[in-house]
Amino acid sequence: MYVEVLVEIKSKHVDKTFIYQVPSFLEQESLLGKRVLVPFGRQTLEGYVLRFCKKPEIETKELIELIDSEPILTPELMELGQFLKEDTLSSLTSCYAAMLPKALKANHKVKLKKKMIQTYRLTLDIHDAFRECQNESQKKLVELFQEKIKITKKEAQAISLSGLKTLVKKGILKEEEEEVYRYQRKEQALIEKLKLNEEQQKAYDTVLASFDESQVFLLHGVTGSGKTEVYLEIIEKVIQMGKTALVLVPEISLTPQLLERFSKRFLRIAVLHSGLNDGERYDEWRKILRGEVDIVIGARSAIFAPLKDIGVIIMDEEHSQSYKQENTPRYHALDVAKKRIEYHHCPLILGSATPSLESMARALKKVYQYIPLTQRANQSALPEVKIVDMGVEAKYRHAILSRELEYKIIEKLNKKEQVLLLLNRRGYSTTITCSNCGFTYRCPYCDITLTYHKSKNQLRCHYCGYTKYREEVCPNCHEDGLNYYGLGTEKLEDYLSEVFPTARVVRMDRDSTVKKGSYEKIIQDFQNYQYDILLGTQMISKGLDFPRVSLVGILNADQSLNIPDYRSNENAFSLLCQASGRAGRKDTTGEVILQTFYPQNYVLQCVKEQNYERFFQYEMNIRKTLKYPPFYYLVHLTIKSKDYSLATEESKKAKEFLKNKLDSQTILLGPATANLFFVGGVYHYEILIKYRFDSHLKEALKSLDELFL
Ligand code: ADP
Ligand code: ZN
Repeated sequence: MYVEVLVEIKSKHVDKTFIYQVPSFLEQESLLGKRVLVPFGRQTLEGYVLRFCKKPEIETKELIELIDSEPILTPELMELGQFLKEDTLSSLTSCYAAMLPKALKANHKVKLKKKMIQTYRLTLDIHDAFRECQNESQKKLVELFQEKIKITKKEAQAISLSGLKTLVKKGILKEEEEEVYRYQRKEQALIEKLKLNEEQQKAYDTVLASFDESQVFLLHGVTGSGKTEVYLEIIEKVIQMGKTALVLVPEISLTPQLLERFSKRFLRIAVLHSGLNDGERYDEWRKILRGEVDIVIGARSAIFAPLKDIGVIIMDEEHSQSYKQENTPRYHALDVAKKRIEYHHCPLILGSATPSLESMARALKKVYQYIPLTQRANQSALPEVKIVDMGVEAKYRHAILSRELEYKIIEKLNKKEQVLLLLNRRGYSTTITCSNCGFTYRCPYCDITLTYHKSKNQLRCHYCGYTKYREEVCPNCHEDGLNYYGLGTEKLEDYLSEVFPTARVVRMDRDSTVKKGSYEKIIQDFQNYQYDILLGTQMISKGLDFPRVSLVGILNADQSLNIPDYRSNENAFSLLCQASGRAGRKDTTGEVILQTFYPQNYVLQCVKEQNYERFFQYEMNIRKTLKYPPFYYLVHLTIKSKDYSLATEESKKAKEFLKNKLDSQTILLGPATANLFFVGGVYHYEILIKYRFDSHLKEALKSLDELFL
């Protein structure tokens, strides 16, 4: 017997399989999708068994041993790896590595074992066992079995360790080993489901009507329209059919609330996201492989969850940029999802209040089936958005909170309602400048200003992570002239406690949620009304559902508009709509105050009207004129080097190379210096390819890739 093994070597040149003979002691084992140890040159390496094959002409070596007792890649996932390799021009090993949890990757240093615990069972009838007991503690141990079939060592120890030992020695208790999963989901009492309203019911019926056709649906529902309720209903149906459901959310901050809601309806759920540690991910993955769950909820990489018999895939907040992975393999979860629904003949539901232009364009062309939810599910009105001109406010010395926002916050606090404040900037101050000599702190590796973090007393680069401690005097002129400008979340937190001394304020951003479980805690506590004001970065803007929130303040709406990216308007529109949607979700009418220096900006006007259609029309026109998606496809190449002239020369060469290979209608722009030209000590150039159809593109990119290895 011979097998093809994909050997994990850190080089693209060797991205291929090798044939090994299966030793006789392994012939009875199932091998496909498992990791094995193989001899490779003078090394011993790990690899994945991909398929069986015929005896080759040349002499082959034998496998050394089998690593996994259960396959870690299903046949579907093995195929998916091939697709990913072609689609993203990456090595097959890097594709499998992206799919698997750390502990299951080949040659990974994280070696995990199953977590085992000892459990005990009675060997006799409980009455007979009682009679055998010699003292009170032994009796107490046996009593445990009135309610349980088995007990854990921990439970037994709490009563008597010596008693336990005696009972085992006498053969009254039998010791067994059992695997326990590391991640323990908080159990929720199951609740009655809501009755779908007319629009929701129609959405549900539409999906069910073309259930096994691998159809993509765009569920476009305003914030609070009850999209999640529709998902739950469809999932229930899917489970009744004996199938499974895969639910993707863009960010881990969304999982706790969603998970709580799912847990109130369903029991067999696994989660996969970056908030789990290696052991927990390893367990969740195997739980899924063993078919012990019906639903998987997770972030981007959960799209590879080894579910069998998938009945529906849901991508919530489908417009989110985080569904695209920015390092190798640069896949988009949407492409993988489409591949998987083809395999399983099941629907894919893309849900959003602000669909990406690409998805909306596809819906208009009937490539996707369009399902609108136009009303809020609980009849509450959409919030009222008010734009405040900060240019005017500055004259009244209200640079941080406008007069109106400050007044409204006081009003809400008095009414015992809650307030959300969005400020998309971490840290304390964003610029530190010397008033004496004009010196400004910049990252020595990136050409951007350092942000001051007061809690750690550090200056930090938000791109490469460079840090240095705060200095008392200017490092340039040695005078006491350092000033701290710009508003970050830390400073806002301080400011709020000054202005509203009795308000209970909590901050949520990447710095305040480093500790495991801290997201969940902040959300929980805010939900339970332990706080009056939640301030934070975009983390607080999405998906969260807090009934008591009646006011949302957006402090610096302009920030997201000024990012040099063709998508910045789209991203800003969706961020601001999402954030606005957090206001007034149950019995209160929501109010939103949007602070800006450009009150006439059309994106902000569309947000004010909550008018997706107007935004869509306007932005599509711009995209058409400028030849951007969805009218053209884009390929974005980055050329990086620590050597300035090498980067310049090679990017010119790359462009020449492409020019000779690509179709003449394809537009080739650059090389230009990237937005962040000097980052982490490395120079960045960009080449942009815009095309509608180019039969030579894939080949050209492949050979370019090989040329620059
Ligand atoms: P979305 O996911 O579109 O933001 P949700 O599903 O979170 O909307 O629903 C918003 C709110 O409306 C939630 O509090 C939810 O409990 C409630 N809701 C949803 N559907 C219904 C319904 N059919 N009847 C009553 N309330 C509903
Ligand atoms: Zn830096």
